[in-house]
Amino acid sequence: MRNLPHFYDESFSFFHDVVKSKHKKRDDPGFLDRLETYYEDIDILFEEYNKLFKENKLHTVIASTVEDQQKSDLLDLYHYDNKRIQALKTLVTTIDDNRALNTCQNCTVRIVESMDHQVPKNDFPEFSVHPLNLFPSCEKCNKKKGKYWRTETGRLFLNLYLDPLPEAQYLFCNVSVEDEKVEAHFELRNNECISTELFQLLKSHYDRLELCSLFSLSCGTVISRMATYIKNHSDMLSIEQMQSITLKSNQDEKNIYGQNHWEFILQDTLITSEDFINFALTNHIQVAD
Ligand SMILES: [Zn+2]
Repeated sequence: MRNLPHFYDESFSFFHDVVKSKHKKRDDPGFLDRLETYYEDIDILFEEYNKLFKENKLHTVIASTVEDQQKSDLLDLYHYDNKRIQALKTLVTTIDDNRALNTCQNCTVRIVESMDHQVPKNDFPEFSVHPLNLFPSCEKCNKKKGKYWRTETGRLFLNLYLDPLPEAQYLFCNVSVEDEKVEAHFELRNNECISTELFQLLKSHYDRLELCSLFSLSCGTVISRMATYIKNHSDMLSIEQMQSITLKSNQDEKNIYGQNHWEFILQDTLITSEDFINFALTNHIQVAD
């Protein structure tokens, strides 16, 4: 999990571009004209959103009064396949060295196939195509986030445009080898004084998206790859050499994909687990999935 670069240009221009990309509807010829009448209100509301975004206080945003027709028109503006929204997705998923990151950063397991509305579009249709409100996400995370996204004091989910992720390790993995089966369990712990507020937000995000169990269910390929690596290199390298190479390479990956990326935390745990190393050297590989 890592932060993504957010949209930097004028947010109202983005709205305007999305409107311009729309075609006249044969069954609703007044659609485009009606959108134009919303410009003034949207401009003001976008400014308010930008202010709250800058202060990282989006949980305090107040829904404006939007009539049914206006709500339906504004919701109609959002389509994942819209070329402006696809251009936004490309912009915010392009990370260092022009690398495209098409994995959902809410879970870091599934691929991006939608834009999640950080402030839900049904309650806030005015932000249905606000570029800072659109975050690339898989369908499952998007659905799980749903209507309940805040309390009186804060948000229930990370906003990875905004919330600085800690450098300190907070995701831990425990590997067990029993009856020739390897299982990995993940949990969050605050061993290194991450602020209570940030740790609570991390915990809420991971719990509500059920990430620890998702990681456990997804780790089969990583476990068999690591077991094969150990077995295939055991003639050429000592265990210490394999550990040193793996830990170094994982650190390089964490620098790109996040210090608490589950795959590299899992690999670190596997390569330093005596039980797993013995298992990899002596057993036919079988992974509990
Ligand atoms: Zn996801």
